[in-house]
Amino acid sequence: MAYERLPLSDNLSVNEEGRLFFAGADTRTLAEKYGTPLYLMDEDRIRANIRLYKDAFRDLWPGEAEVLYASKACSFLEICRIAESEGISLDAVSPGELLTAKKAGFDLGRAYFQGNNKTDEDIACAVEWGVGTFVTDNPEELSALEKEAARRGIRQKILLRLTPGVDCHTYEAVNTGKVDSKFGVAIETGQAASFVREALASAHLELLGFHCHVGSQVFDEDVFERTARIMLGFIASVREKTGYTARVLDLGGGYGVRYVDRDPAIDVRKKIGDVSETIRETCRELSLPLPRLLMEPGRSIVADAGLTLYRTGSVKRIPGYKNYLSVDGGMGDNPRFALYGARYTVYPAEKMREERDMVCDLVGRFCESGDEIQRDIRMPRSMERGDLVAVATTGAYNYSMASLYNRVPRPPVVMIRNGEDRLVVRRETPEDLLALDL
Ligand SMILES: *Cc1c(COP(=O)(O)O)cnc(C)c1O
Repeated sequence: MAYERLPLSDNLSVNEEGRLFFAGADTRTLAEKYGTPLYLMDEDRIRANIRLYKDAFRDLWPGEAEVLYASKACSFLEICRIAESEGISLDAVSPGELLTAKKAGFDLGRAYFQGNNKTDEDIACAVEWGVGTFVTDNPEELSALEKEAARRGIRQKILLRLTPGVDCHTYEAVNTGKVDSKFGVAIETGQAASFVREALASAHLELLGFHCHVGSQVFDEDVFERTARIMLGFIASVREKTGYTARVLDLGGGYGVRYVDRDPAIDVRKKIGDVSETIRETCRELSLPLPRLLMEPGRSIVADAGLTLYRTGSVKRIPGYKNYLSVDGGMGDNPRFALYGARYTVYPAEKMREERDMVCDLVGRFCESGDEIQRDIRMPRSMERGDLVAVATTGAYNYSMASLYNRVPRPPVVMIRNGEDRLVVRRETPEDLLALDL
């Protein structure tokens, strides 16, 4: 059969009959087998994305390096097992994400506990479970953690989250590196320097180095280079003032992915090579030893490994106004358009070779006008009830951001490897929803 690859991603193709294939599997067959809405994930792609980072660091960075999967992008047991089997480390932001990793057999010694507001319970739980490193966000957390570590008579490894004051020009909601951020402590205001002094004075905390994360879905040319220079400059100034030299530099996550054909493709390997060179040069200028370099990709590991399938319910044509194509999911399984107008590529999964002669908004089933998945897309005029609709690049921040709005159960996740499908998260049922009600 002649398969045509789609330009968005090479795990998307179309067969002779005009049906969309994902990761080598027929979307119609999967929709019939598992029902809709349905999250599909391409395991081969997840592994390839992880290896892209690992190999780039191995080949292009002369010092030690560690790749951390930011599990908030998509967290369930099987994803953590995949991360574990690829030998990378993991970021978690809650006991729930830590428990998922733990149950998946992930060594929590390789886990980093993130988040801007860890409660005392969160801290106690993570220490109890032997989480390797805390990424400490603020002075209050620092003293709470010192207290907990002292109580247990341990020395907890930490990084301090700093705000380098870099604007990476992404969506406001995921722009985190500016001075006026709720995350981390700012370098520019001098607050970071006293944060470091407090950490160094904490007898039960071992300060390994510094962390930053400037944003997500970042495309700006030199964001990571600028960030690295600021962070290294800070490391040098701390050394000057206190004699302490940080050994770890964590540059966070954030490389952008392609949601639509016109998005640029980021060459992660080349980017890591560029950052590596900048860091080596800057370390030489500042006479700093090469730090152990950490990066925390989330989106760029899983986004293009995901595809969501829906079925059409109605096609509402309002003459002189607009057309609405409604599907059986929406903001409950994918809130990103409602949150920040995120772009997506939408396909008529069984009518890929038909002319797309109808402009419409793709809307969901949830009771809010803001329940849109994408606006002004082109679909075939023949779309009707029962037709499959596919939304691409939904592997990151879709399943993990799903809600129970309208008490609509969340879709299952099916993992595909070598063209073979397997259920890895079952479909939620109305009974599951009632399980907590007393
Ligand atoms: C969200 C987040 C990441 C991952 O960001 P992506 O854009 O998904 O790569 C990494 N580190 C921290 C601290 C984060 O908050």
